[in-house]
Amino acid sequence: MRALTWHGKHDVRVDTVDDPEILNPRDAIIRITSTAICGSDLHLYDGYIPTMQAGDILGHEFMGEVVETGPGSTLQKGQRVVVPFTIACGSCYHCGKHQYSACDNGNPADNQDIGQEMYGQPMSGLFGYSHLTGGYAGGQAEYVRVPFSDVGPIVVPDGLDDDEVLFLSDILPTGWQAAENADIEPGDTVAVWGCGPVGLFAVQSAFLMGAHRVIAIDHFPHRLELAKKFRC
Ligand SMILES: [Zn+2]
Ligand SMILES: [Zn+2]
Repeated sequence: MRALTWHGKHDVRVDTVDDPEILNPRDAIIRITSTAICGSDLHLYDGYIPTMQAGDILGHEFMGEVVETGPGSTLQKGQRVVVPFTIACGSCYHCGKHQYSACDNGNPADNQDIGQEMYGQPMSGLFGYSHLTGGYAGGQAEYVRVPFSDVGPIVVPDGLDDDEVLFLSDILPTGWQAAENADIEPGDTVAVWGCGPVGLFAVQSAFLMGAHRVIAIDHFPHRLELAKKFRC
């Protein structure tokens, strides 16, 4: 298959690589139909994140069609799914508390040691985001292997286009969580600093949570024009 691969700082290439295969019973293989580039991908591109290896496949925001399933997967071939970027087992202590990014099992032990040493805490497993987070192949590719496919993927109902659901993979829940953390109550006035994609979702989330007024702050006029469209 073809995939976007990292080869060093400011060096990414579309290479021909091996197709992914089912490795564990709960795996599924997804044929990617849409994928997004995240601001976080720039940290890889700019060489800020250590433990990248030449040939690593990038991408943690993606969706597609289920084409193969392991015997422990709950997905079915032909289903369309959005895949959140965090790889979580669904059954450990933290997953039991819905703290999926703290999953004990999504990141292999050797890689957890790297995070522990560098940042004082282990990192969760993530798609396409260095060996610090498991060294998993990402979804800026034709196909991707999704571990624990019975936990993360969201099955897309009929009638919704890719563009309407793709952002469930990362930036919509990220923006929602920012608003959630602000404890917004009906009638509140809320300020959102930074109106890139995540900020714009935070603006919309604030309105959904009942904010009366949202003040969008940014120094790019085109972003503020977009923010105005979400005014309730
Ligand atoms: Zn992202
Ligand atoms: Zn877990």
